[in-house]
Amino acid sequence: MWQVIGHETSVALLDNSHKSGKLSHAYVFVGPPHVGKMTLALNLAQALNCDGDKQPCGDCASCQRVAGLKHADVQVIGLDGKYEIGIDHIREIGRSANLKPFEGRNRVFIIDGAEHLSSEAANCLLKTLEEPPPNVHLILITTDERLLIPTVRSRCQKLELRPLPIPMIERALVEQWAATPEQARLLARLSAGCLGWAVSASLDESIPKERAEQLSSLLQITNQGRVERFAYASRLSSQFAKNRGAVRDVLSLWVEWWRDLLLIKGGCSDFITNIDRESTLYSEAESYHLTGIKGFIKNLQQTMEALGQNANPRLVLEVLMLDIPKREGGLVSKT
Ligand SMILES: [Zn+2]
Repeated sequence: MWQVIGHETSVALLDNSHKSGKLSHAYVFVGPPHVGKMTLALNLAQALNCDGDKQPCGDCASCQRVAGLKHADVQVIGLDGKYEIGIDHIREIGRSANLKPFEGRNRVFIIDGAEHLSSEAANCLLKTLEEPPPNVHLILITTDERLLIPTVRSRCQKLELRPLPIPMIERALVEQWAATPEQARLLARLSAGCLGWAVSASLDESIPKERAEQLSSLLQITNQGRVERFAYASRLSSQFAKNRGAVRDVLSLWVEWWRDLLLIKGGCSDFITNIDRESTLYSEAESYHLTGIKGFIKNLQQTMEALGQNANPRLVLEVLMLDIPKREGGLVSKT
């Protein structure tokens, strides 16, 4: 049984293709961070090597080894704290792909953060994608398919994973992760539909705490001058050199915050993400023009795109700091 929560269309497609022996040799799973892409990829790897009746059964030795990342034929390749996924990793995939499966029936390679493949690595991967050996499956995971080179993208079947409905996450947290109803209600909303984040936050209280600290920094920055803003941009760009994902998460948080302001301006406050800061959001929404909020959300999205395309991080983050909209009538946030 597939263990993925939600994403019914993608699961049904993979299940039918698996049962009829028509799985593609290469998939690209696209979706926001923590939405369930890796869970689905590992579930597919389990199905491809499962020894049970209802594949993926989740119980057989093979399924359990895949879940524990211990299966010899299932490899997960990611950034591992580096700036990009280099060609050595992809050459290794090319070599391993030509060997027979060691303990299962299929070799599965999962490339997590495929948008971070170096250009040499992406071109090297093309060779495997063009002539995939039998019993080899590649699953590319990305938050932004536009950052993959077109020749790689066109050789993969795309599955898009969208944020889950908030009540579905709330229910799952209570029923499967023993969260209290209050905790589940808050974390489900803060997750913006990304179950992985909600589960991690329910198990590790430092995650929501860090989120709260980042939001406080955001609010502080909007009230500060150019020197402090540039110092913040400098800190973020240094962090980017070590951990791209962490900076992407900070900017995603900024997008959610400014979207909440937009929702309040539009009278749709029922849909805001940051329900634990509703009163601050209301006072902040009063401080800005609608056009300023809309424009800044666009700037944030362009910044994330530029960072994904290897623009100079310090430069684009400094420009972003200058683009923070001015407050109307000199109103200042209470925080
Ligand atoms: Zn199994």
